[in-house]
Amino acid sequence: MPITSTNPATGEVLKTFDPLTDQQIDEAIGRAASAFRKLHGTSFEQRAAWMRAAADLLEAEQDDISALMTQEMGKTFAAAKAEVTKCANACRFYAGHAEGFLADEPVEPSTVGAATAYARYQPLGPVLAVMPWNFPLWQAMRFAAPALMAGNTGLLKHASNVPQTALYLGELFRRAGFPAGAFQTLLVGSDAVETILSDPRVQAATLTGSENAGRSIATIAGRELKKTVLELGGSDPFVVLPTADLDRAAQVATTSRCQNNGQSCIAAKRFIAHTDVYDQFVDTFVAHMSALTVGDPMMDSTDIGPLATQQGRKDVEAQVADAVSRGATVRCGGQAPEGDGWWYPPTVITDITRDMRMFAEEVFGPVAGVYRIASIDEAIDLANATSYGLGANAWTDDPEEQRQLVDELDAGAVFINGMVTSYPPLPFGGVKNSGYGRELSAAGIREFCNLKSVWIG
Ligand code: NDP
Repeated sequence: MPITSTNPATGEVLKTFDPLTDQQIDEAIGRAASAFRKLHGTSFEQRAAWMRAAADLLEAEQDDISALMTQEMGKTFAAAKAEVTKCANACRFYAGHAEGFLADEPVEPSTVGAATAYARYQPLGPVLAVMPWNFPLWQAMRFAAPALMAGNTGLLKHASNVPQTALYLGELFRRAGFPAGAFQTLLVGSDAVETILSDPRVQAATLTGSENAGRSIATIAGRELKKTVLELGGSDPFVVLPTADLDRAAQVATTSRCQNNGQSCIAAKRFIAHTDVYDQFVDTFVAHMSALTVGDPMMDSTDIGPLATQQGRKDVEAQVADAVSRGATVRCGGQAPEGDGWWYPPTVITDITRDMRMFAEEVFGPVAGVYRIASIDEAIDLANATSYGLGANAWTDDPEEQRQLVDELDAGAVFINGMVTSYPPLPFGGVKNSGYGRELSAAGIREFCNLKSVWIG
């Protein structure tokens, strides 16, 4: 099957590519292995200079690469530009911090009967990165910047609908000065992942994507005894309690649900409002959602572009239809327009019950499910009542409620009075079926390192 770049705003095929042959894959893994030997011998200072050069290239080419992302997967041009800036910042963050994050950890020698003892972080080698289309630059960069700074090499198997962005990334680090083969894009379908991950030269894998893909990669990696980091889906709660600033909460709820045209793993998806403020919150939220402009993603005035794939829109439509058929109420949106492109309007749905698919599943589009609760305990029970545990948002000015929410929400991140977002200094990842392992921060760069104990008598 060819790998195809399609404009989701029109359905027009932009470009097609033949996937790599088995021999080309084998040669690429060979290049990654020999580039690892070269990279391992370079200093942090050298790698940091190359990483800063990559950041400079991203900034210089911001408009072109942003337009490419918008064309391939439909995010707004403004959002694409912000993504490029975020990537450049992450490059500089790891350029500046990698050496400190991976510094030797001294151990008091007398406690282990040595003259000298410490633990040292060392890179593992070629790492396979299987990445999704929703933040086509950022998701890959979140892996690449720390991995390369640690001295690992990367093999990127990007989502099959963003081949042009994938090829850009494959060239970026070489152009910035990294040795040829240090970071390569493999244009392959998901059927090639087993061969690549089973290759003895490939040491580990990271995936951002669906639960299904996570289970598949974890199964192969388990058989091969290889380390994995999995960043999977989420159905993040957004809890609104009586002391919350309701206007601000409703505004942030809208931004969170509709960021990236509703296709973000850390978008708030389930809105859980206390009965004392439920009506006011829902009315304001519906007003904000209804006011968003859906349209050409290249226009400054557009808030929401098309969904990235035809299948993605079908999935959202099926989830909404299921809820409606079981008695849910559509407060705004809820109907895809006729015509070309894979558009879906901002939608708010109330009266959701446990038998509806939306209760348990992630909705990957601008559709918000709203729930009414009568106490903080009920809010936390409902927030935790999915198989996911990526992020959690909660709104309250009461310090005791804040403490309880931080303690009791099952999630990899809890944001109080703000929107779950990834920041390079904070660890990023989930619990339960949202995956395991962490990206970003010191934890992220250490995931693909051998922590070697050194004892010298
Ligand atoms: P997928 O998980 O299918 O795709 C993500 C990446 O995994 C792609 O590179 C894909 O390759 C690859 N992949 C898919 N299946 C396998 C497999 N069995 N073995 C190895 N690699 C695989 O996500 P979709 O794009 O189809 O989106 C579907 C759902 O995934 C969404 O509704 C959402 O729940 C979740 N998702 C979560 C994201 C997040 O940020 N956490 C991002 C994107 C999706 P290929 O494209 O060639 O199939």
